[in-house]
Amino acid sequence: MFRILPWRREVLEGLLANDVLGFHTRAHAHNFLGSVADVLEARVDPALLAVERGGRRTWVGDFPIGVDAEEIAALAEMPVTTAGERRLRHQLGLESVRMGLGVDRMDYTKGIPERLEALEALYERHPEWIGRFAFVQVAVPTRIELAEYRQVGDRARELARRINRRFPRAGGPTVHLVERNLGFLELLPYYRAADLCAVTSLHDGMNLVAKEYVAACTDFEGALLLSPFTGAARELDRAFMASPFDREGMADAYHAALSEDPAARRERMAALRETVLRRTVYDWAIDVLDALVGAGLRAPSAPTRDTIGR
Ligand code: UDP
Repeated sequence: MFRILPWRREVLEGLLANDVLGFHTRAHAHNFLGSVADVLEARVDPALLAVERGGRRTWVGDFPIGVDAEEIAALAEMPVTTAGERRLRHQLGLESVRMGLGVDRMDYTKGIPERLEALEALYERHPEWIGRFAFVQVAVPTRIELAEYRQVGDRARELARRINRRFPRAGGPTVHLVERNLGFLELLPYYRAADLCAVTSLHDGMNLVAKEYVAACTDFEGALLLSPFTGAARELDRAFMASPFDREGMADAYHAALSEDPAARRERMAALRETVLRRTVYDWAIDVLDALVGAGLRAPSAPTRDTIGR
């Protein structure tokens, strides 16, 4: 696909002017090396994760970004967040039902319509959840000047209307769309209220939302549902997994996550939290800086004026 791009050489040459190039996942780093091998005359070393071209070397690495987990956990426990959570549950009539959550830009890679289609399949296949499980989707408008993005919004709204018509519940809407950008402090009550957070992109980088949700889950009362196409799936492998291309499979994953025994659910969340707390955004920054220093020390030939670490 990359080779379709008329400016493929210029893009790669520009990127190779860096000493270190970081990607969220190892697979993305390898894709980059593959593109370089296809498009440019360069020495690509997939074992070393390096590219040599015109006497200079670029180190390519995977640096999965983290979040400031301790800060998020502290904010999640503030009285203002707890009050926000209560208000949210009251406004949407969620006091006695389980709540699912999606938080994304309204982007076609995020799989929002697919997630809602799977929700509809959940109510068809597991009708015990009708009236007992509601879903809130925060969908931040993005690039609305492009028809493809507007169409995602149209599909999501149409699906929400259809699910609410087919599977109404007494206290409030079964699917509630929030189509605006929330500040992080406004978002936290949603994380706290959610019994399940679904991050089920069709193809994606890291997915900070998944890590933020886990970091905010200080009471261990929550479940994370990921698609295997999220960057986070590699690290957060104790999450429930479901493909957005498998409507019924995702419906069953919703059901499995909601039905899991509470002790097992808490143990699973504890494992996810350990991962997110172990590798925070500060560890990520240190890894990137270490790689830059290392790149300078491991320069291929005599250090040049533009080699970092000289
Ligand atoms: N976010 C936000 N307000 C919103 C929705 C999302 O501040 O209403 C933030 C969220 O906290 C996260 C980021 O936007 O930090 C989304 O990052 P992610 O990696 O999940 O997706 P991206 O949009 O970068 O593809």
